[in-house]
Amino acid sequence: MRRSDFDVVIVGAGAGGAAAAWRLCTQGLRVLVLEAGPAYDPRKDYKLDTEHWETELFPAKPGSAGRYVFAPMQPLEEKYSDLRSWNLVSGRSNLSARREPSGPGYHHVRGVGGSTLHFTGEAHRLHPQAMQMRSRFGVAADWPMDYATLEPYYTIAEQLIGVAGSNEAGALGERWRSAPYPLPAHALNKGSQRLGQAAAALGLRWSANPRAALSQAYDGRPACNYCGNCNRGCPRTDKGSVDVTFMHHALATGRCEVRSDTSVTRILTAPNGTVREIECVDKLRKRSRIPVKRLILACGAIETPRLLLASANRSAPRGLANESGQVGKNLMESLSWISSGLLEESVDSFKGLPADAICWDYNRPDAIPGVVGGCRFSAAVHEASLVGPINYALRIVPGWGKAHKAAMRKTFGAALSIGAIGEFLPNAGTYVDLDPKARDAHGMPLARIHSQLGEQEILKLQFMAQTCRQILHGAGIRQLAEEYGTYDYFSAAHVFGTCRMGNNPNEAVVDAQGSSHRRRNLFICDASVFPSSGGGEAPSLTIEALALRCADHILGLVRANTPV
Ligand SMILES: Cc1cc2nc3c(=O)[nH]c(=O)nc-3n(C[C@H](O)[C@H](O)[C@H](O)COP(=O)(O)OP(=O)(O)OC[C@H]3O[C@@H](n4cnc5c(N)ncnc54)[C@H](O)[C@@H]3O)c2cc1C
Ligand code: SF4
Repeated sequence: MRRSDFDVVIVGAGAGGAAAAWRLCTQGLRVLVLEAGPAYDPRKDYKLDTEHWETELFPAKPGSAGRYVFAPMQPLEEKYSDLRSWNLVSGRSNLSARREPSGPGYHHVRGVGGSTLHFTGEAHRLHPQAMQMRSRFGVAADWPMDYATLEPYYTIAEQLIGVAGSNEAGALGERWRSAPYPLPAHALNKGSQRLGQAAAALGLRWSANPRAALSQAYDGRPACNYCGNCNRGCPRTDKGSVDVTFMHHALATGRCEVRSDTSVTRILTAPNGTVREIECVDKLRKRSRIPVKRLILACGAIETPRLLLASANRSAPRGLANESGQVGKNLMESLSWISSGLLEESVDSFKGLPADAICWDYNRPDAIPGVVGGCRFSAAVHEASLVGPINYALRIVPGWGKAHKAAMRKTFGAALSIGAIGEFLPNAGTYVDLDPKARDAHGMPLARIHSQLGEQEILKLQFMAQTCRQILHGAGIRQLAEEYGTYDYFSAAHVFGTCRMGNNPNEAVVDAQGSSHRRRNLFICDASVFPSSGGGEAPSLTIEALALRCADHILGLVRANTPV
């Protein structure tokens, strides 16, 4: 057998893969990262000066979007009609009688940097209680570690990225910290200030959102210029996506090699059950096999189970590392809602940092009356993409001709949006498997996403929607202009849970270090290992913290000369 030139091979260069690569390389290991998508150059690829810049949510490149199949979703009920998505220009958005995927459904990017290229850059730590959902509330599963175990890794990740946040006690809540944020919080834009006054009138606390966007120059990157387009890719590199942070520093060690446009299609095992080789296909469609000593999967919560299931063999007929039967199960999607309206006057709401403010008051798992699992509220006009005239005209300012022009002049900059993200509890109807027919260009079966909203999710969505409306009303919005959420659409930017971590090998795919319970040289470092999703916290910082911890575990094995 050929010996690998690399100590560790990582599949996927997103949040988890890049963080693991950085930690391993900076501690002296040689690492190969295989990434299915292309490399992006922020200065060339993220252009905001094209005529239709607003209509593209993120600049696509060949290979930057994966393909998925969705199983039919649940029928929509009349009694929940106030949760249907709609806008003033086109009316109800989903005209079918069933829940459907919105656009790609699973919002992601394939590329060096993964979905963090497209992300907003909220940099959150999980609420400590959100890690104990089984023992405290009888749902989901407990994390096999507590907040204190992850805390040092959160700190390392925040320092590397340059997270800007407020160190005031009110802004931190129960997420205690061993070190202050490396950078001061960003000032709130005018729209967020308006929302903050309305939240305060309802007795809610509104604080600066911890952001992976530089409030001062840091680590060779310039400060944010508040162009407001983080989701379209940051042309200045001040947004803390992992390509310009973890991956940049991993490459600088000279011990990291990244092969973009290279998809891993199968994992092959040795007779003793350890991982031996991986099969990949490069940009030129050339197939090859690469020997591995240690393999980290970091393909995200849809693609990691897909690869494991597609690697089934005679000794692992249900899929690799699937002795527990949990690979692909326990999918948790993001439960989200956004309400928007128009103020009487412009507050230049298109300017400023996206999601600059947040309310954590309902984030604790028992904070929302009558349901289990929390949620948070944040300023959302940029994430609703109401930052340019085209979307105003297409969605929230109806009309035609001269009257429409006048209405556009009067209203541009007057849009206010508030968003909520809430906890999705795992259920038996929400999971990922392989589609029996559909295959990608390399012949690999596509992931099939099954999604079922439970009653708790619908009740939580109702609470999220009502609170968003109340805050907008308090901010001076007389008439709503648009609302959308995940009742009638599968629209998930945060997905978790499909290779759950846990102490019991019969109930979990990996242990607390991200190490497969049964395959000793296989590790998973992405959102698929989350046992519960948190109450609306954005996940990347936690994924990175888990990946750093997994990398430290691997370093310990290498230093102890543990055989592979
Ligand atoms: C619009 C949007 C906004 C978001 N906002 C935030 C936010 O503000 N804060 C936050 O924390 N999170 C946010 N997220 C979510 C965040 O980006 C993801 O949760 C995070 O990137 C997931 O990390 P991951 O490592 O699990 O997967 P990813 O970052 O998606 O990386 C997986 C990588 O694996 C690669 N891959 C997959 N299969 C293969 C294969 N077979 N071979 C080789 N490579 C493969 C993919 O191409 C991809 O690059 C947002 C996401 C979106 C889309
Ligand atoms: S608002 Fe700041 S972080 Fe976001 S894309 Fe613009 S410059 Fe980058």
